[in-house]
Amino acid sequence: MIYQYWNEKFEKMPRTELEAWQLERLRETVACGLRTPFYRKRLAESGITEARDIKTLADLRRIPFTTKSDLRDGFPYGFLAVPKEEVIRLHASSGTTGIPTTIYLSRGDIARWTSFVARCIYATGCDKTDVFQNMITYGLFTGGHGFHAGGEEVGMLVIPSGPGNTTRQFRLMQDFGTTVVHATPSFLLHVESKMKEEGVGRDSVKLKRAFAGAEPYSEDTRRRIEELLRIDVYNSYGLSEMNGPGVAFECQEKNGLHLWEDGYIAEIINPETLEPVPDGERGELVLTILCREATPILRYRTRDLTGFIPGPCPCGRTHRRLYRITGRSDDMLIINGVNVFPSQIEEVIMAMKEVGNNYLIEIEKDGVLDRLTVKTEVTAATFMDDTRPLNALKERIRRTLQASITINPRVELHESGSLPVSEGKAVRVRDLRPRDV
Ligand code: AMP
Ligand code: ZN
Repeated sequence: MIYQYWNEKFEKMPRTELEAWQLERLRETVACGLRTPFYRKRLAESGITEARDIKTLADLRRIPFTTKSDLRDGFPYGFLAVPKEEVIRLHASSGTTGIPTTIYLSRGDIARWTSFVARCIYATGCDKTDVFQNMITYGLFTGGHGFHAGGEEVGMLVIPSGPGNTTRQFRLMQDFGTTVVHATPSFLLHVESKMKEEGVGRDSVKLKRAFAGAEPYSEDTRRRIEELLRIDVYNSYGLSEMNGPGVAFECQEKNGLHLWEDGYIAEIINPETLEPVPDGERGELVLTILCREATPILRYRTRDLTGFIPGPCPCGRTHRRLYRITGRSDDMLIINGVNVFPSQIEEVIMAMKEVGNNYLIEIEKDGVLDRLTVKTEVTAATFMDDTRPLNALKERIRRTLQASITINPRVELHESGSLPVSEGKAVRVRDLRPRDV
């Protein structure tokens, strides 16, 4: 394979140099932090009153974690490290878990962010000959603007289509010869169903690649999208607190996401004990941003579950790789006392070829017990008038799910296209149980 590097010096930097760079950037970031009301107090409590107190990278562990609730408590300006007139943009989280948190960026911050996204895009083999249709939300969410700027930086023709309206998306793809798209994995699956429905032939579009992120998805889902659309799908990971896209991305090897360690320091901790876990083991990702002056954030508990993949990547990049994010340390469902991750359910159902592109997990109370219902769409070919094969399929899904998650779900099969589709992040879990107070 021929690899291309947007910033070869940094992407292939020897680890010792990379760590020296990280230490230097960490000191800068702590210096920025000391200019914010939040960290001035927080760092002083740990005996850090000036950047020089950080002597080695190990000193990072003297700094307490920062949580989403800290960011909310600091709203609106508790984390702002530059005069307001130096800020040229703000972004907020999509509110996956509640109240949005706000991030401010200076001109330099946006330039650095853009170059990280460009690096990701280029690592997948794209270049200025590509036509890029950005089918993700713009606005306060970071995904649209981040990829838009990164795509332009690479020199691609960028079509800011945003999500939704598949008929218009197909029109744009055909009129301008779109070769690469960016979307959530669930929207990509929706696009594929609609293509069939609207009679848009695969050969009428020139798609080669897709960047898919913003929500967890399984390897089976990736493969399914790749096969159905005949494209390469690259996993894109980011979060607004850390700028958004451009934090970690797959290279052409598609075997884990390179976390850009010249822009971030990553730690994996056990979410219970808060102690670091060894490479190869899963835990919660903690990130420190090194490339942003306006809103420094140190040791942020992302709640995302992943781990470092041991060993080097054949692409030659020295930045460590993360496993696909399987869920969050806070999205775990407890059903009749059993822990279940929505991703486990997805893995089972998406591996079945009769299952369609959309599904919904519902949990409700049935007397004193919890009841789990898994509603899945089935492909048009499977959904026939004869109920016998459908009943057999239902039973097979139920049994396979039970074997995987140890609890017995109810399974409902739905016609393709009948379950609700969201334009942004898919809503896959509906927990209808009354909350204890
Ligand atoms: P936001 O701040 O709104 O951009 O949401 C960021 C969150 O989306 C992350 O903390 C993850 O939980 C999730 N996320 C983003 N990209 C991915 C991905 N590729 N795989 C799994 N989850 C993701
Ligand atoms: Zn690689």
